[in-house]
Amino acid sequence: PKFKDLNICMELRKTCRKLKYFHPTPIQLKSIPHALNGKDLICASQTGSGKTLAFILPILQKFIEEPHSYFALILTPTRELALQTAETIETVGKKAEVKAASIIGGLSSSEQKAILKEKPHIIVGTPGRIVDFLDNTNLLKLEKIKFLVFDEADRLLSMDFENDIKKIIEKCPESRSTYLFSATMTSGVKKLKNYCLKKDAVKID
Ligand code: AMP
Repeated sequence: PKFKDLNICMELRKTCRKLKYFHPTPIQLKSIPHALNGKDLICASQTGSGKTLAFILPILQKFIEEPHSYFALILTPTRELALQTAETIETVGKKAEVKAASIIGGLSSSEQKAILKEKPHIIVGTPGRIVDFLDNTNLLKLEKIKFLVFDEADRLLSMDFENDIKKIIEKCPESRSTYLFSATMTSGVKKLKNYCLKKDAVKID
């Protein structure tokens, strides 16, 4: 199978080819059609499986159809993963001129304020810093978010981010799509699933 069979647009397919992604990985093959159908996803996903593209491609596909700022929010357990994911989004979404902002601890907050003033399309961040911005600035606007992603949800939950995550979910509109990716399906992940995914979410493993 090819990305074309998954209804990924020509623009994104060209970029995939350039990056030498010739065929979707199994997780991409299983996730992308449901994502493009508007379904919520809960995916058992190991690093190295191609999980990042499994959520980035459908988000970028929808972004290209109807672009606006604060389009998606991706939560990651670590700064490194946030930076890496933001970079992947900008690489794959280069033709669509997607701006991804990393909102993470360890970067100067005045620098991050300046980035948010430029109205990025996709925010990638760690829950603590995101909540910090929600509490102390009015720069982070989540009311128009179309996609909320929990990447490495098991690690997110093991790091005491539960209260931060709850605060963030409350700020996101109900009309959003939510994707939950996790290496292990712990009881915490199942609780999060019941709390934030639609009842007809598709399980992928
Ligand atoms: P991830 O599981 O998201 O950490 O991705 C692992 C690696 O697989 C990354 O280095 C990606 O560049 C690469 N990758 C993702 N999708 C594909 C694909 N369809 N074909 C080949 N490599 C891929």
